[in-house]
Amino acid sequence: MKLAGASAITRIALNPECGRQVSMLRSGLSEPEYYQRLTGEPYPDEYGERLSARRRGAKFERNAYANYAAQLRDALSEIVGVPAAQIWVRNMGDEEPGLREANRIRRWRLTMRILADQVAGRPCPQILIQPQLHITADGLIEKPGFWIAPDILFLERTRNIYRPADLKSFVVRGNKVERADLERSRLQVAIQSLALHESLRTVGDSRTLNHIGGFIFATPYGLSPHKPQLEALDGSVDRVQKALIALRRHGEYLDALKKADGGAPEHLMLDSVPMHFQERCMKSCALARLCQQHHEGKAHELGDAAVELLGPETDLDRAFALMSGAKPKTEREREIAAALKNLNASFAAIPRAA
Ligand code: SF4
Repeated sequence: MKLAGASAITRIALNPECGRQVSMLRSGLSEPEYYQRLTGEPYPDEYGERLSARRRGAKFERNAYANYAAQLRDALSEIVGVPAAQIWVRNMGDEEPGLREANRIRRWRLTMRILADQVAGRPCPQILIQPQLHITADGLIEKPGFWIAPDILFLERTRNIYRPADLKSFVVRGNKVERADLERSRLQVAIQSLALHESLRTVGDSRTLNHIGGFIFATPYGLSPHKPQLEALDGSVDRVQKALIALRRHGEYLDALKKADGGAPEHLMLDSVPMHFQERCMKSCALARLCQQHHEGKAHELGDAAVELLGPETDLDRAFALMSGAKPKTEREREIAAALKNLNASFAAIPRAA
């Protein structure tokens, strides 16, 4: 899958210091393709979401959208303030199916017409499945911008305004979700909310808009949807806006590098592009093993907490020597030795196994 749209912005929001991801994004290639171009070797593992997870996600959505979205109508009835049997649903995926640009443009036109109807007070559906939005973030994203496709928009009764929501097929009890899963989901829905606000302004909405989004998780009972969990997304929107600034900054840096190098392909200049290796890279990025190799023997091998304690450039052998009593040579080494001694003190009282 290509790194594009909401997934690309989410990745940058999770690691805004890394310019290499931006190079991947600009290449228009999928991550394994980019890896192959860079190394000359095919990507060695299965990449991305596991097939079983993709199947579960597809089944969850099929269940939710079947029978005029019966399960979704049940889950959303209270929030939209209309009895489930009377909820009006439109499914852009059915009305304009297809993955081509022309299909997206037609879905986007339909979506914009519905948003304009809502702003003008004309009748409109309470649930919009697979709408198509577009974002330029006031020019922060280079033209032509990114397509953003929330799973649904629903009309929230209290403010009479559309809100984006994503269906997440992780099975949860009582809407309790893993922190890491929720962080990524929040960023994705924050991007959708920004794109929705941009679209509403385009159709003349002058109301004060706030960033609220919904998460619809799966119950353990036959992958049916929980009631949506609504959240204020200001913190995530802030991270997304910073990610867009980082995207632009890295893009300008890559342009300057290219210009200085006479227009060489970007992947050949990757050694000059800043990276910021983190534990989460191992799970989320096709370049993880390549970036990890740059940190062999360094704190990164022990994880983010060790990097925070020792600094990214500290050699692990030297850190161990300092912990074992070697004399510090610099002020920084003195700090590291003190921090390690302090850390070690907590374990000193634990009897060692023979
Ligand atoms: S693995 Fe490398 S390229 Fe990928 S996000 Fe981490 S530092 Fe950036």
